Amino acid sequence: MSETMLAAVFEGVGKLTLKDVPVPKITRPDQVKIEVEAVGICGTDVHIVSVPPGYIATPNTILGHEYVGRIVEVGGSVTHIKVGDRVVVNPNDYCGVCYYCQNHLPNLCEHVGAIGIDLDGAFCKYNVVSSKLAFKVDDSVPVDHGAFAEMLADVVNGTNKVKLQPGESAAIIGAGPIGQLYAQMFKAAGAGKIIIVDMSPYRLDYTRKMGFDLVVDPSKQDLKQFVLNHTGIGVDVAVDAAGSGLATAIDITRKGGKVAVFGVNTQATATFPQSQLTFKELQVLGAWLANATFPAAVKVLESRVLDLDGLISHSIPLTEIHKGLELLANRQALKIVVHP
Ligand SMILES: [Zn+2]
Ligand SMILES: [Zn+2]
Repeated sequence: MSETMLAAVFEGVGKLTLKDVPVPKITRPDQVKIEVEAVGICGTDVHIVSVPPGYIATPNTILGHEYVGRIVEVGGSVTHIKVGDRVVVNPNDYCGVCYYCQNHLPNLCEHVGAIGIDLDGAFCKYNVVSSKLAFKVDDSVPVDHGAFAEMLADVVNGTNKVKLQPGESAAIIGAGPIGQLYAQMFKAAGAGKIIIVDMSPYRLDYTRKMGFDLVVDPSKQDLKQFVLNHTGIGVDVAVDAAGSGLATAIDITRKGGKVAVFGVNTQATATFPQSQLTFKELQVLGAWLANATFPAAVKVLESRVLDLDGLISHSIPLTEIHKGLELLANRQALKIVVHP
């Protein structure tokens, strides 16, 4: 009889089940087996289990893609990490041979396999992945911080694209975990004014508690006027961390500024006067997942420059995963970290 473990398995539309499944085994020499220590609940997990689903996952897959753990076993060809190492994982397994992979754009791989969405993830005790996806992180980093690595690698991709300079102003649309990480990264990079936009009172309060005072609820205040009052000409950089704020971002960015489009909402379509892009000479930059940015994200974690403890609103055992998903769906949480 094989060993089993408790796992949160996506079984089909609206159905996430906690059940015993076999412990995964290493089947290729390049793989590693990880004992999961902490895993974040992502907005994507909420979208996957909602009805109708806002994001499509493969049925009978263990969810959970933002994780950190200890290596407990390595395949025969693994040399860069060893048993006992703490690692964070890039959950987007890339092929390594397509046009994009060969041009150092693994996030755009033509054959990407998404761990915790289409391949078994980390809402469980053990996970087996290709060793090329595992990045060693120093033991001095608190384990829960490791659960931010994936989001952070995504955010580093976006911050690299907009290249914010010291003193420049930024607006961030969406004050969820990703928006908060952008705000902290911009602050660490020396940003001047940082304006944060959201309509959830919980998230706006949270943002103030994290030390960002320029928060706006556009349903209650004229956002553009607010931005002009604080910047005179519009922000240097705007980030759409919500996935539906492109038109707003374009409207509040100064001439010659940059807009990063990060959040994903596949239902959203943007309507805006196209001439604004021409008149303002705006640069609109898509930022999708982690573009070979895990090493940088690990360095940010190790530098301890961000206040990640402050972003953890809940810490729960795996048995409370449904409650965690519900809290996040109702925007009554920021980052929820699960301990399997
Ligand atoms: Zn995610
Ligand atoms: Zn590829």
